[in-house]
Amino acid sequence: MNTYSPLPITFIKGEGVWLWDDKGNKYLDALAGIAVCSIGHCHPKLVKTISEQAGTLIHTSNLYHIDKQEKLAKKLASLSGLNKSFFCNSGAEANETAIKLARLYGHNKGIDLPTIIVMENSFHGRTMATLTASGSRKVQAGFEPLLTGFSRVPFNDLEAINQVSIHNKNIVAVLVEPYQGEGGVNVPQADYLKGLRKLCDKNNWLLMLDEVQCGIGRNGKLFSFQSSEIIPDVITLAKGLGSGIPIGACVAGNTAGKVFKPGNHASTFGGNPLACAAAITTLDIIEEEDLISNALKQGNFIRKSFQDRLNGISHVAQIRGQGLMIGIELTEPCGTLVKDALKHGLLLNVTSDKVVRLLPPLIITKNEAKKIVDIVSTLIEKF
Ligand SMILES: *Cc1c(COP(=O)(O)O)cnc(C)c1O
Repeated sequence: MNTYSPLPITFIKGEGVWLWDDKGNKYLDALAGIAVCSIGHCHPKLVKTISEQAGTLIHTSNLYHIDKQEKLAKKLASLSGLNKSFFCNSGAEANETAIKLARLYGHNKGIDLPTIIVMENSFHGRTMATLTASGSRKVQAGFEPLLTGFSRVPFNDLEAINQVSIHNKNIVAVLVEPYQGEGGVNVPQADYLKGLRKLCDKNNWLLMLDEVQCGIGRNGKLFSFQSSEIIPDVITLAKGLGSGIPIGACVAGNTAGKVFKPGNHASTFGGNPLACAAAITTLDIIEEEDLISNALKQGNFIRKSFQDRLNGISHVAQIRGQGLMIGIELTEPCGTLVKDALKHGLLLNVTSDKVVRLLPPLIITKNEAKKIVDIVSTLIEKF
């Protein structure tokens, strides 16, 4: 259907941070399939895992035990401290799971019409519940009636949540991206997550973090919450988890992990052997190649370099981000930069009209990082 307006370009091959189109042109991929291909394109170890798993067993269903799924759940538990996982196939589904979980948690406490606090400028997906949760008219317009049971506040504003809670006794959870992606690469204030944790503890709400984009090493920690000394009740994962094999996960700690009972939620494909094998190997590669510290190092280098290069250009409003989630906000809509960058052999993205967004693979080297800075700075100078 006519849901996208794709650029006139077809990629036929990928290796590491590079892509080739059908005309033989080579591109540096600073978007990584929208934060998906974090270990680079066609990592040999991942290709081997997928090939072997495809030749052994692809799918059975959740009516039986799945060894790879149990292994992945244990791995996520040991890495995150959250010991229960539900597997699905996308970020939207992972958030849909979290929303259902929060509602059931409320009902179990005797709250018949549970409310979930969500943020302005957030993005949680395109299903009815997740587009309702998203703070973007663009994704909602035309799809009314939206769902009830959400209350919206500004990002980075703890007092706004306090105010809402005075008038609404049905709140059961807060759903928030620790770093907003689609909303313009917005960074949490110091102690924002700590403050959210405190509010949730005080009121017995679930703190649910949408780490679909910022998680799996991109922010310089495996999970974003790990830079803030808090433990959330729920995190949702997808994009970088399976390196392009569709997988999503809703991962929960002790309280939230006990809410669902058999029959409450399900997925035919969710957590099948192929997807779980890809995710296990992705996590292994991130650890073996020390990609998290590389994300932090290269991200710091890129932002610092932009700060130097773009210093004094009045059309540059702000350079921000964490790790390899980088945003350069301009003072004017700059969607045309996507095509300009393509001409220079670079893939990037513009989000929220004015924010140049870079989400390069975590395997990026310093030379490749320099190349990105050079091309993007030149384009912005011209712009
Ligand atoms: C991309 C994204 C989603 C939606 O994921 P899909 O796999 O496209 O459904 C949800 N939340 C965040 C933060 C995202 O970046």
